[in-house]
Amino acid sequence: MSAGPAERAIGAFRETFGGEPDGVWAGPGRVNLIGEHTDYNEGFVLPFAIDLAARVALRVRADGVIRLFSTAGTAGVTELDIAGLDRESAAGWSVYPAGVVWALQERGIDVPGFDLALDSTVPLGSGLSSSHAIECAVATALNELTGAGLPTSDLVLATQRAENAFVGAPTGILDQSASLRGRAGHAIFLDCRDQSAELVPFDAPAAGLVTLVVDTRVAHSHADGGYASRRAACELGAEVLGVKALRDVSTGDLDEARGLMDDVTFRRVRHVVTEDERVLDTVAALRASGPAAIGPLLDASHASMRDDFEISCPELDTAVEAARAAGAIGARMTGGGFGGSAIALVPADDEARARSAVMAAFAERGFRSPRLFTVSPADGARRLV
Ligand code: ADP
Ligand code: MG
Repeated sequence: MSAGPAERAIGAFRETFGGEPDGVWAGPGRVNLIGEHTDYNEGFVLPFAIDLAARVALRVRADGVIRLFSTAGTAGVTELDIAGLDRESAAGWSVYPAGVVWALQERGIDVPGFDLALDSTVPLGSGLSSSHAIECAVATALNELTGAGLPTSDLVLATQRAENAFVGAPTGILDQSASLRGRAGHAIFLDCRDQSAELVPFDAPAAGLVTLVVDTRVAHSHADGGYASRRAACELGAEVLGVKALRDVSTGDLDEARGLMDDVTFRRVRHVVTEDERVLDTVAALRASGPAAIGPLLDASHASMRDDFEISCPELDTAVEAARAAGAIGARMTGGGFGGSAIALVPADDEARARSAVMAAFAERGFRSPRLFTVSPADGARRLV
């Protein structure tokens, strides 16, 4: 039998539940190429789905029971009742599939019970959105098996609802939009105001470039407070400037804005306003010249997050600087900040050098060894078998 990407999920399904699944669905993780802290300012982001994915082998049951098994961890089989799902009844990772079921039920969809075996290649907690990968695989499977046939835009909203109201995470639409809408060789240009999405060519491998992810494995303790205070500063800036959201401010307005607010608020505003422009410039550069042209924009994004938004940390700065010194054409921290991951666009010939340079720089500074991955832009959630 071929060792296709569905094989491990099928094997786990047979072993755990017996017999064959109705099908196997994949939901990829994602990387945000550029556009950080712009989402809640109704601005622009540019993520892509990656070639690491959650695969779920799933078979409908007639008795309204949900049984869940993951090849990761030692939790064994979790059992839930499809009727009366709530946050308290779902423990561990079962909140993600349960949240999706709950959000589909809320839309009036009659979701049956099912057996599900999960096998994921998305590393947990590396900032590649392993949790959304699960949600998007499950949502895509149930959308098909129930015959609901929701359009992708509704699946985006249903998984957001699952996150916000069931899992309890106040997240936007970036992660699931990438996982559901991804296309090999493309990034997804997302307007967080009207939620419209466009595919933009981003065929890094064809351009001879590797996307290296450096997971610093640090999560600094002030991350939550730091996020809340950045959001508050953005809201204050928008209020002072008399706009609905910072999306409505252009770089030409910044000189005047400087005199209207304190320096810290101004720098927060400047990050968001310039970052929105960098996303637009990146989209234009990708369309006109391809991935090799976007390095300086990634670098400028990192500098803005380090100096104006102040959400970087020594580990992220080290990852970015070491990768760049070893040949990366551009690098930036990605995600909310205060730890998490950085990405670097590296010529394929320099990949080994960049990897060892990053490892050496971390060792030299006494940082915990980072985890390194290479990812490429891949297709979004879909049926495999
Ligand atoms: P990430 O940035 O990777 O999404 P989160 O903390 O949001 O980090 O999600 C990680 C959580 O997702 C884990 O704690 C676990 O509950 C769940 N998860 C991800 N992958 C798996 C897996 N293969 N098996 C079981 N649970 C998983
Ligand atoms: Mg997550």
